[in-house]
Amino acid sequence: MTVRTRADLASIPGYVPGRSVPGAVKLASNEVSLGPLPSVVAAIAEAAGQVNRYPDSGAAELVAALSARLDVPGSHVSVGCGSVTLCQQLIQATCTAEDEVVFPWRSFEAYPIITQVVGAQQVRVPLTPGHALDVDAMVAAITPRTRLVFVCTPNNPTGTALTAAELDRFIAAAPADALVVIDEAYREFVDDESVPDGVELAKAAWAAGRDNVAVLRTFSKAYGLAGLRVGYLVAPPAVIEVVRKVFVPFGVNALAQAAALASLRAEDELLARCRDIVAERTRVRTELLALGYDVPPTQANFVWLPLADRTQAFNEHCMEHKLVVRAFPGDGARVTISTPEENDLFLEAARTFPRN
Ligand SMILES: *Cc1c(COP(=O)(O)O)cnc(C)c1O
Repeated sequence: MTVRTRADLASIPGYVPGRSVPGAVKLASNEVSLGPLPSVVAAIAEAAGQVNRYPDSGAAELVAALSARLDVPGSHVSVGCGSVTLCQQLIQATCTAEDEVVFPWRSFEAYPIITQVVGAQQVRVPLTPGHALDVDAMVAAITPRTRLVFVCTPNNPTGTALTAAELDRFIAAAPADALVVIDEAYREFVDDESVPDGVELAKAAWAAGRDNVAVLRTFSKAYGLAGLRVGYLVAPPAVIEVVRKVFVPFGVNALAQAAALASLRAEDELLARCRDIVAERTRVRTELLALGYDVPPTQANFVWLPLADRTQAFNEHCMEHKLVVRAFPGDGARVTISTPEENDLFLEAARTFPRN
């Protein structure tokens, strides 16, 4: 007797996490390289003394803190076990088997996997030749079956971000019954003033009667809590309600909740770190351009090198320099901006890579 499982799962590629190689510098997962602040470690340690108790399933204190911080009612906020889990809940809450999820491609690797796992249809919209989201093509890809559109800005892995005018144009063109999810995992690294704050943009959309705009953010990147798994969704109450219906009880653990609260309290210090990373991003990109690399303008904590069929060779060259980057063979390599010392190691590898 063989257990019968879903036949359609056979075609799903496994999620490929950035590799950790002992002794090598990891620039593969867009983490911040500095460890958590002492105040955050202390909050985690304190919460550790009470892990015999279940966490607050609704994360009320964290929702209240986010609601105050973002100036939206608590009914507009939901937290999840990483924003990737919220992506999954959003699809579960909006789609059945015939329904379509539209997303740019290449973009966040989890979108196609989660869509297929939930059992909805994927519609991938190619990026522009400049590696940015193609607003018009995304609008054109929406059909009466589209229930959800992921708008990843800044886009992982290319780093490009939509301007306020582009995002407004997209939202105005999207039908009212399709949920537009602005995935802002890298919002805190944005320094271009033409790039909008998605939450402010969503609030303006709601005020204008558009209740189909939502924003995803995470504590994993700028706030340095990738290992604890906590992210949040800002959306109209009707969306929050259904997202909460499909959640796994107690999904956000007690240590994650305590750490996220402590990180919000230490926000100024953490955002100052982000500004250092942004300064390094400028330095690294300028240097790469001077070396002759094509590097799209980036608003995230990584750079994208569209090396096409040289990607695999570049990946191996970096490994020889004890650097782990994130390679998408045939397409390009994504490299996380780190400390000045680690960035210098990467620039040295880039300098010595033989390019034809
Ligand atoms: C990293 C990332 C996330 C997921 O972050 P979590 O760790 O699950 O909160 C979501 N979207 C994009 C685009 C990302 O790059």
